[in-house]
Amino acid sequence: MKTYNELKLAKELIRFPTVKTEDKGIMKFLSRKLSSIGFKCKIIKSKGTGRKPALNLYAKLGNSKPHINFLGHTDVVANLNNWKIPPFKGVVRKGYLNGRGSQDMKGGIACFISAVSNFIKDKKFKGSISIIIAADEETTGLGTPSVIKYLKKIREKIDFSVVAEPSSNKSVGDEIRIGRRGSMNGIISVHGKSGHSAFYGSYINPCTALAKIIAKLKNTSLDNGTKFMPPSNLEFTKMNVENLSENVVPQFATAKFNVRFNSKHKSSYLKKKLNKIINTVARKEKCKTRIEYRVSGEAFYTKPNKEIYMVKKIVKKITGNSSKLNCRGGTSDSRFLGSIPRLELGLRNNTIHMVDERTSISDLKKLTKIYYNILENYF
Ligand SMILES: [Zn+2]
Repeated sequence: MKTYNELKLAKELIRFPTVKTEDKGIMKFLSRKLSSIGFKCKIIKSKGTGRKPALNLYAKLGNSKPHINFLGHTDVVANLNNWKIPPFKGVVRKGYLNGRGSQDMKGGIACFISAVSNFIKDKKFKGSISIIIAADEETTGLGTPSVIKYLKKIREKIDFSVVAEPSSNKSVGDEIRIGRRGSMNGIISVHGKSGHSAFYGSYINPCTALAKIIAKLKNTSLDNGTKFMPPSNLEFTKMNVENLSENVVPQFATAKFNVRFNSKHKSSYLKKKLNKIINTVARKEKCKTRIEYRVSGEAFYTKPNKEIYMVKKIVKKITGNSSKLNCRGGTSDSRFLGSIPRLELGLRNNTIHMVDERTSISDLKKLTKIYYNILENYF
């Protein structure tokens, strides 16, 4: 049986310039690699950023329980000018693998494929291993949901998922993500009554109402945080009043805000709570309001379970790090995994999305060892 070396595979993956949802043959390449170690591969299409669809991969080995999954994405961000080393060559220099995606996250994909290939060659096990690779995590984010939809259709159940996003900060495994805060944007439009500013009583100033609404919202504590997530926070990001005159009270005032909320809230509940505060103030000021929301993601979180503690122990053994379990960082495809217990553990994130992205080769080795041990201990 074939095994794959993580460094060699990472180099090969970097050489596909998969910016936005461009495939460039990478899914075929991965399917070939995984098929030749026994995986059944299925390409699942989703809407791409250009004319061509994005190609995502679901690969599965085995049919029995328990079922462990690895999740990754092959797309990379642009920001490709002014590199000292070409971004799509996979150049190794002074102990580092250079290239776009080396940390985020072709490196992580190479590590889990290498670990899986070595594990199934070395060990007999009962259960299944699957791999989901999305092509659009950095852009449209439709790939992983399409794969999950397909899994629902064929009644496939994943018992535990390892998302290989670069979660590590100063060294591999120092941080493990067990969830993410939710994010919601809102726009408040306050409707008053315009008039001459000299005639107090003849107008209703929406600026006054909006200022009071903002003050009230900022003075309202949403919660005290949870063990793994900080207190929810609402921040105003824009205030706007269209007015060309100095002596006219305007008709409208608007403000935009963003709320980062922890797992104590659902967005639907938060909306109700905020609406109530806003409308109470507005009524007192005799103004009308319109409030619009856009939810980018609900908060989610896997309560530390035996798998998470097992991974923590493995990281300690291999790296010496006592991993912090947290919910930091930007969003990831982990948000699409619904109720599947999961964690995010991958390479460092100190150069992701930057010019001259690179990973140390010893980190690749360490992470592969961690994934191998996860498989060994899981089954
Ligand atoms: Zn990523």
